Amino acid sequence: MTRPVRATIDLKALRANLQRVHAAAPLARVLAVIKANGYGHGLVRVAEALHDADAFGVASVEEALVLREAGIAHPIVMLEGFFDAAELSEISRHRLSIVIHHEHQLLSLEKSAITRPVSVWIKIDTGMHRIGFEPSGVAAVYQRLRNSKKVAARIRLMTHLANADDRGDGFTECQLASFISAVDGLDGERSVANSAAVLAWPQTHMEWVRPGIMLYGVSPFLDTVARQEELIPVMTFSSRLIAINRFKRGDTIGYGGAWICPEDMPVGVVAAGYGDGYPRSMAAGAPVLVHGERAPLIGRVSMDMLCVDLRNLPQAQIGDEVELWGKQLPIEEAARFAGTIPYELLCGITQRVPIVEQG
Ligand SMILES: *Cc1c(COP(=O)(O)O)cnc(C)c1O
Repeated sequence: MTRPVRATIDLKALRANLQRVHAAAPLARVLAVIKANGYGHGLVRVAEALHDADAFGVASVEEALVLREAGIAHPIVMLEGFFDAAELSEISRHRLSIVIHHEHQLLSLEKSAITRPVSVWIKIDTGMHRIGFEPSGVAAVYQRLRNSKKVAARIRLMTHLANADDRGDGFTECQLASFISAVDGLDGERSVANSAAVLAWPQTHMEWVRPGIMLYGVSPFLDTVARQEELIPVMTFSSRLIAINRFKRGDTIGYGGAWICPEDMPVGVVAAGYGDGYPRSMAAGAPVLVHGERAPLIGRVSMDMLCVDLRNLPQAQIGDEVELWGKQLPIEEAARFAGTIPYELLCGITQRVPIVEQG
């Protein structure tokens, strides 16, 4: 066998999760968020599988151009807009839409030499306090865009929610009220909802929803896993056992001797490590599945390997399939053991991991 680590991407699950978005927000159009290499699943692969989406959201002109070069003709929205006025000619030529969130972008756009007008979304900061115009200034920004020959006629309006993943947090209602009042009287399609809001806050759906994480079959909430949200995990990160060794009580496992065998025991070695995107911060006790059975991680994760406690799996053999997260082992659970969220685990799969497509 070649080095057995891989990420299997289930394209049918991607499409089913898009259907889940439609079921939750039947009246809204879908701007499928595929930034960061499709949350680690492959930008073009995801865009092709999600052909039925109404538009795609990316973070940079580079990502947008990769999609255009692959023949993706959908509207593409650059969610942070442009970073430098020099990008505007490509943006205009390739019919990319941009988010305008700051005065400096507005000025660059007004002064630019482009001849084909660009589609613009105005981003309003209703409480995330990251990017966006203040609600009180939106009407003036809207008018300036209206008056600019560089801007296409249909201006759209958006905001981003900070706490939508907490169903009990009243801040979402505050942000929504602030957004509704900021855009009152302005003509244009509106968008508020990320994945969490698609599932938990129907009053935010409006004309466009912007799901990301749920498309990849991951719960956006801290207290549920995909299955409970009727989502299907798209990525399965797996490898195989490449060694099983027996150690004595008191022997230490791995770098720093951080884990000490409490008794004589079998230890399995899996060919996956932080060089593949299995975080070094993963705490001992994190479950992996060996041939479908749970085994806890022991010792520090190395660059190319990790070790598991096989005391409860006497039947385990070299070559057995090991699932690190995916179809059978919820990534939501793995993320908790790494002190992070599934988004970071998905984006962290490294270049050297071969991708296998399914469905
Ligand atoms: C990344 C992003 C999203 C998607 O968020 P999820 O939590 O993955 O659904 C939506 N809108 C904007 C502006 C984003 O940057």
